Amino acid sequence: MKICIRCVLPETFPGIRFNEEGVCNFCLDFKGEEALKEEKEEYYHKFQDLIKQVKGKSDYDATLAYSGGKDSTYTLYLLKSVFKLRVLTITFDNGFISEQAFKNIRTVCENLAVDSMVFKADFQLLKRIFSAGIQNTMYSPKALERASTICTSCIGLVKFTNLKIALEKKIPLMAWGWSPGQAPIRSSIMRINPALFKSTQEMYRKPMHDLVGDEINRYFLTDEQFKSRDFPYNVSPLAFMDYDEEKIVNKIKELGWLIPTGLDANSTNCLLNSFSNQLHIQKHGFHPYAFEIAGMVRMKVMSRKEGMEKIYNNQNNEDIVTSVRKKLNFI
Ligand SMILES: [Zn+2]
Repeated sequence: MKICIRCVLPETFPGIRFNEEGVCNFCLDFKGEEALKEEKEEYYHKFQDLIKQVKGKSDYDATLAYSGGKDSTYTLYLLKSVFKLRVLTITFDNGFISEQAFKNIRTVCENLAVDSMVFKADFQLLKRIFSAGIQNTMYSPKALERASTICTSCIGLVKFTNLKIALEKKIPLMAWGWSPGQAPIRSSIMRINPALFKSTQEMYRKPMHDLVGDEINRYFLTDEQFKSRDFPYNVSPLAFMDYDEEKIVNKIKELGWLIPTGLDANSTNCLLNSFSNQLHIQKHGFHPYAFEIAGMVRMKVMSRKEGMEKIYNNQNNEDIVTSVRKKLNFI
């Protein structure tokens, strides 16, 4: 299989083209590290201005979707210790969060002195949605370039669970631990536009509604809620802060965070991940994290060697896959 000589994208990735040397169009479009550095600087100041505007106006300054993984843990550290915000972490328990991730959530929240909330969604409902995602591609090809069907369903529920809580508590910022490869810098600080977000909601809600009916509606906003004047800002600090995996892990270890063992190389928190990645590769011919990892290689926050390792030498843990299939009654 042909793979870009600069990043890690394979020839099976949608819309990819290569020049004569074997460099892909995504790499050729990349503006370079200098431009990126300037943009990062600009967004860092933008974030500080925004903090001045919103800080202290509500019980909490920011929500954080907290999976217990390294990126969201480091984001929590930045929000609390660097930007001095009052944070409410929200963990969406999809039934597959590892025990170590839960321990990490408890320990890190205690050590950083922040409030934490766990929302455990009805697992029978989730089971129907995740199982359907094993056989069907529920979303548009575009949505599936960056995440598997199962992850897309889960992320949709996470996004709107966070938004509902932020609206109810009038929390002005909704923070996310997206890595620099997942969050483009230009959308790393953005006020939610309710009209646009209504179509985003439908993108997620409709396929799940087709499966399980009106029961899914409680996880999404009502028309009345879309009229709110308190729509928060989405912020992804890792897009404009320094990102170095080794430094991040060392920092969060100081907060008592421990590396979960036995999981695949891309996820330190969710057991469903290896399984849904494996299905995605079989179905679409590329790893659902390829785009994200390629972006990080391009930005030089990850070496190409390490990126290749993550995308192409990713040994599945068969024990985890078997236990996931069992829990979804899909053997
Ligand atoms: Zn490339």
